[in-house]
Amino acid sequence: MGHSAPPGLNAPVLSLAGVGPRIGERLQNLGIHTVQDLLFHLPRRYMDRTRLHAIGALIVDQEVLVEGEIELTQVQFGKRRSLLCRISDGTGALTLRFFHFSKAQQNMLERGKHLQCWGQIRRVGKKREMIHPEYQHINEPYLGQVEQTLTPVYPATEGLSQGKFRKLTDQAMDALRDDSSELVELVPESLLIDAKLPSLCEALIYVHRPPVDAEVDALMLGTHPSQQRLSFEELLAQHLSLRSLREQIHEYAAPPLHGESEIAEAFMQQLPFELTNAQTRVIKDIRVDMHKDVSMLRLIQGDVGSGKTVVATIAALQAISSGYQVAYMAPTELLAEQHFLNISAWLEPLEIPVKLLTGKLSKAEHTSVLEDIAIPKAQLVVGTHALFQESVEFARLGLVIIDEQHRFGVHQRLALLEKAGAIQPHQLVMTATPIPRTLAMTLFADLDISVIDELPPGRQTIKTIAISNKKRDEVIDRIAIACRQGRQVYWVCTLIEESDSLQCQAATDTCEQLGTLLSDLNVGLIHGRMKSVDKARVMSEFKAGTIKLLVATTVIEVGVDVANASLMVIENSERLGLSQLHQLRGRVGRGTQQSDCVLMYQSPLSDFAQARLEIMRQTNDGFKIAQKDMELRGPGDLLGTRQTGLPALRIADLARDAGLLPQVQKTANILINDYPKHVQSLIKRWVADRLMFAQV
Ligand code: ADP
Ligand code: MG
Repeated sequence: MGHSAPPGLNAPVLSLAGVGPRIGERLQNLGIHTVQDLLFHLPRRYMDRTRLHAIGALIVDQEVLVEGEIELTQVQFGKRRSLLCRISDGTGALTLRFFHFSKAQQNMLERGKHLQCWGQIRRVGKKREMIHPEYQHINEPYLGQVEQTLTPVYPATEGLSQGKFRKLTDQAMDALRDDSSELVELVPESLLIDAKLPSLCEALIYVHRPPVDAEVDALMLGTHPSQQRLSFEELLAQHLSLRSLREQIHEYAAPPLHGESEIAEAFMQQLPFELTNAQTRVIKDIRVDMHKDVSMLRLIQGDVGSGKTVVATIAALQAISSGYQVAYMAPTELLAEQHFLNISAWLEPLEIPVKLLTGKLSKAEHTSVLEDIAIPKAQLVVGTHALFQESVEFARLGLVIIDEQHRFGVHQRLALLEKAGAIQPHQLVMTATPIPRTLAMTLFADLDISVIDELPPGRQTIKTIAISNKKRDEVIDRIAIACRQGRQVYWVCTLIEESDSLQCQAATDTCEQLGTLLSDLNVGLIHGRMKSVDKARVMSEFKAGTIKLLVATTVIEVGVDVANASLMVIENSERLGLSQLHQLRGRVGRGTQQSDCVLMYQSPLSDFAQARLEIMRQTNDGFKIAQKDMELRGPGDLLGTRQTGLPALRIADLARDAGLLPQVQKTANILINDYPKHVQSLIKRWVADRLMFAQV
């Protein structure tokens, strides 16, 4: 290869050695267009290949570098054919296992040769194995040839290996060291000094290529100042992008929706309950927002069962009685159907037509609903994300309600914007995920927040017990007794990490088994793979009390509301996240009778799992559960993208880096006031390709 000057930071990636059209396209798909973009494609984690480990002292789950002499290589036949290669370094033996291998590879792994291997240690029976390790032949044993520095692991995609990324970032690092003037520092220096953080250039070099004397532990944890510097900038960019989104929405007019208070009054009159103070307060927030000629952008946070649906329905009435349409979006088909049933029953007496739009309608039904939406005959449309497909055209959309926001991403809300055109509808977003205040203020910065911090009166607390699955028979007896007393029961089958179809199968099998054991009971089954009509039938039979015991997958996790159901059994509860357990458990305790939840677990239970189930036993308060869960395992999971609909982050971790948030907010205000150009550049650098709202 020739030694011309390296391409500059703003040169296209195509100018780098080893990047042709094919690789170039893959990089583009990752949002990497220029050499500089590569610098912001940050290592997810590091591998420590700086030390050799003795095979005799390996710890399960650890990722390690080992060397050894091949003692035996053979193909094992069985359930799955695999190539086994045993190596030993004198302190112990380790098996390398390959499921995919070639004859040539097998021949190369000859007895007596030496290998250096990198991989994760697994325990198989009493032995330890590495499955598909990275390995290389070495000429002489135990030379101790190891890496001098930690090896970065990049978030890669298919067709781009780690090796490739390392080569590309090597070139990007050269370009940076050569001339860093094109790397613009967007955070004012004085603020960095305040926060004791290094410069961007320093931080990038350290994070991509940790030096020989790097602080390994801090780097592995993501708490090194260089990483914190980048996390800080990323959180700042995310926060700014949301504020900018809000501003963009507010550049458009929204219809002021004054509504007719008589209709809301009439609706509240017919409800079989009084609103709680918290509900009334939140309704007032919403009413004030909707009177304005800029979009309401409001998040309602309220624990499971706090009564968000009725609040949303009252908001809907305000829009409808102002002559506008409402779209009510739920994350699952089952929930959309349940909302449709409840809300249409509520609104029918007021002669308000409600329609359902999901992906499962027949072609004719679908066409007819679309027509109703366009005429407009449908005033309230409940649905899944099918509501926002291109073919759907609302004649006068005034309000969008998004239920269980944690199941959607920011993206879905952005898609809405495009739907609406010149007049932006009001937005009401609801969630049961309790998010600490600073976090919410930073990462839901585009939304105003109202909290329903009170449950309807008369709710019985749910008594929760944990029982080993060895006592499954006792649990089944308990169900029989409960049903004889006229109670209704959920039995939730869960399988983590297994496919959806396996989960459905498990529920089907359990239903059959329970049906046989409890032959005098009407046992129903519900899972995600059933036809809509069948699901609807089962749910209505359960509501009507014909079905006493409902065996379900986690499809019932959100929204399902059957007040007479007062016992829930959750299988394999130790494998679910606490917030998911809380959501599930929230399906009972909705009426006035004492409710119970039985958490079945696979014994033996680890101390950690035991501590988690103990939390579930101790409290019914979603906020406390979330707090405890965070204390136990860090908020990563609780506040991960999956559960909150927060944006996917490159380096920041909301749990670990929560301490940065106050500074992030402060810095954001300064930038908006004093450095408006930097705001857009930061968003472009960190967020642009992930949230495509630039062209609203
Ligand atoms: P979530 O906030 O979890 O969405 P829901 O809206 O499903 O809760 O409400 C749970 C149940 O409580 C529903 O059956 C609903 O009709 C009922 N409910 C709502 N508000 C009240 C209230 N103020 N008093 C009594 N029951 C209420
Ligand atoms: Mg709900």
